[in-house]
Amino acid sequence: MTSTVAPTIGLVIPCYNEEEVLRETTSRLVVLLERMRNEGLVSADSAVFYVDDGSRDRTWALISELSAAHKDICGIKLSRNRGHQNALFCGLMTAPGDALISVDADLQDDLEVIPQMVKNFRHGDDIVYGVRKRRDTDTFFKRFTAEGYYKLMAAMKVDIVFNHADYRLMSRRALDALSEYRESNLFLRGMVRLLGFPNSVVEYDRAERFAGESKYPLKKMLSFAWQGITSFSTYPLRLITTIGTLISLASLAMTAWALLMRLFTADALPGWASTVIPMYFLGGVQLLSLGVIGEYVAKIYTETKDRPRFHVDKLEGEAFRRQG
Ligand code: UDP
Ligand code: MG
Repeated sequence: MTSTVAPTIGLVIPCYNEEEVLRETTSRLVVLLERMRNEGLVSADSAVFYVDDGSRDRTWALISELSAAHKDICGIKLSRNRGHQNALFCGLMTAPGDALISVDADLQDDLEVIPQMVKNFRHGDDIVYGVRKRRDTDTFFKRFTAEGYYKLMAAMKVDIVFNHADYRLMSRRALDALSEYRESNLFLRGMVRLLGFPNSVVEYDRAERFAGESKYPLKKMLSFAWQGITSFSTYPLRLITTIGTLISLASLAMTAWALLMRLFTADALPGWASTVIPMYFLGGVQLLSLGVIGEYVAKIYTETKDRPRFHVDKLEGEAFRRQG
């Protein structure tokens, strides 16, 4: 099923302190859009939607300037910094278009696969995942931890696409379905897998960030990884139950052994070690378990508040003016 009318495509780009890259990014995207229009792949109304995630530098000023200069550039300004996932979600919920493609501002994701994503969409796929072929532009540490993480998620039966981050196309139908998910702890690559719908994969090579530095320092990365696990799996809770059961069985065996020693041998009871060691050990296990349970309780707490995930401060650009 190939559609004959060229669809309107929106490129959604979350930006946090990206003043160093925006001009270059814009010129490349404008060229790409023009090329796809000329090939009849996308409609004239296709556009770029920058989401300013409460940047502290001149990002928004630049976005306004660019959107005044190019009809293809639109801006969405969040009321404050909400983090990459929320900013991206805001863009996906706010930008118009028959399909939206999420891209990072630093253009690490190869733009050359975008025409292929659009082609797959026009052939009927609702979701097209951008998947990294290799990870050789990453540091050893990042590669090692990322690989471990994908394997861990798979072991916990969480369905995510290996080496897919947030570079993907989603159809209007898929976006509408996504809007029905009410959670405020967003882990979009996991949520999108839950949607189903026809989907496909395009492979690409990831480049280095061409200017500025990563807005995902180690601490944010770890917190995002943990977020993904606790939002999509209750496996850690089950693991604790298993460990708890095993330890209880072991202490039962130990008690039996101590009793036998007492009743049938002349040896003195092995007192100190068998009392103090399990005390510390169990204390540790209990604290750990409480901590993990606490994490989930905290999540219930934040989810039940059902708070809005973003507030839009301003909208700019042709596409929004057209909407009225
Ligand atoms: N980003 C954002 N809000 C944040 C942090 C990051 O919108 O609080 C954006 C950032 O501007 C970029 C994308 O998320 O467009 C990915 O961030 P980055 O390239 O720094 O992450 P990395 O590629 O290093 O994982
Ligand atoms: Mg990046």
